[in-house]
Amino acid sequence: MNNKTFEMFSERVWLSTPTMHGEEWKYMEEAYKTNWMSTVGENLNEVERITAEKIGCKYAVALSAGTAALHLCMKLAGVRPGDRVFCSDMTFSATVNPVVYEGGVPVFIDTEYDTWNMDPAALEKAFELYPDVKVVVIAHLYGTPGKIDEIRAVCDKYGAKIVEDAAESFGAAYKGKQTGTFGDFSVISFNGNKIITGSSGGMFLTDSLEDADKVRKWSTQSRENAPWYHHEEIGYNYRMSNLIAGVVRGQLPYLEEHIAQKKMIYERYKEGFKGLPVSMNPIDFEKSTPNYWLSSMIIDPEAMCRQVRGEQEALYIPEYGKSCPTEILEILAKYNAEGRPIWKPMHMQPMYRMNAFVTREGDGRAKTNAYIFGGSVGTDGKPLDVGMDIFHRGLCLPSDNKMPAEVQDKVIEMIRSCFE
Ligand SMILES: *Cc1c(COP(=O)(O)O)cnc(C)c1O
Repeated sequence: MNNKTFEMFSERVWLSTPTMHGEEWKYMEEAYKTNWMSTVGENLNEVERITAEKIGCKYAVALSAGTAALHLCMKLAGVRPGDRVFCSDMTFSATVNPVVYEGGVPVFIDTEYDTWNMDPAALEKAFELYPDVKVVVIAHLYGTPGKIDEIRAVCDKYGAKIVEDAAESFGAAYKGKQTGTFGDFSVISFNGNKIITGSSGGMFLTDSLEDADKVRKWSTQSRENAPWYHHEEIGYNYRMSNLIAGVVRGQLPYLEEHIAQKKMIYERYKEGFKGLPVSMNPIDFEKSTPNYWLSSMIIDPEAMCRQVRGEQEALYIPEYGKSCPTEILEILAKYNAEGRPIWKPMHMQPMYRMNAFVTREGDGRAKTNAYIFGGSVGTDGKPLDVGMDIFHRGLCLPSDNKMPAEVQDKVIEMIRSCFE
């Protein structure tokens, strides 16, 4: 419970904003001056070449957004109307919506506590319920790779393909290999708040020339090789602009620097929270090197004051020695700093309330979620599933590359005051 007052931050402390370096401008200007102001040009060629090299895949196809790339992945994976698709549950909605664009039906798989990603044990359970599922969509939350080996083993056992949403994890590695190489179809994003940005944009990543060619063709309205506009397939206007590619091109050399800055922010929080009943978002350091895109924290269950979240608003009861995400986010906002709740799990979203959701300890039946609305805990006071629990107790912290250490120290002090 917070009883202290602080000085306002004179400049807003952001969650994560673009960090520009100057070269972006040079490449945009080059595109302008040479009049390559459409969806072809040197910037596009270069960002595709450099990204494929950084990731360690053969081909990268630059698209207008990560979401567009995910959509084309669903087409490549053969998602058809009515097909069930297993999906990460605690993630941004853009991981999942492209399944629905193709008429597929997302089935949500609960989260594990070790990396906050898809739980392989829950995935196995889901295959026992629905052995015919052929596509699994996994995300690497906040730049931390999930349990890739275990998930791959389950998918191989059931002959399912993986769509890897590495939108948040560009530059992160698992067992020395970059994320973006683990899916049968993989995606990164250059959205404005990602670790490398084009202001918008995304990429499809693959080792298959055939798949790369298909994505290139679909993304440019599926024009066939004929003297006139000839179409055998439905197309999309999903290609990245050469101007946007100029921004990405200027950013790419700074990936490692951005990761180092984000890592320092994570470690400073970790150090600053010593002695508090909280932990940082968990990382399996033996297997993975994250990109530390967003630092997050979770409050120990015993140190949670009572907090209830409805559809649109939250209430809590302040208590000495305890706190909750709502209180911390309120304090940060009061002094001009931006935090954010953890991604609200997809199975808790009204638009997906009738979709199945599978936990590792389920009763052997997939639940639909209509009954979950109205609270974060069951009648026994325990969280109903892992995703809901992390959402209830966790939050994302200001993680902007450009945040000065003194400012972060004040953020830490504010958070510490909430546990007094
Ligand atoms: C940002 C993000 C996307 C979407 O990327 P856009 O480029 O904004 O379309 C997809 N999945 C996850 C997990 C994301 O964080």
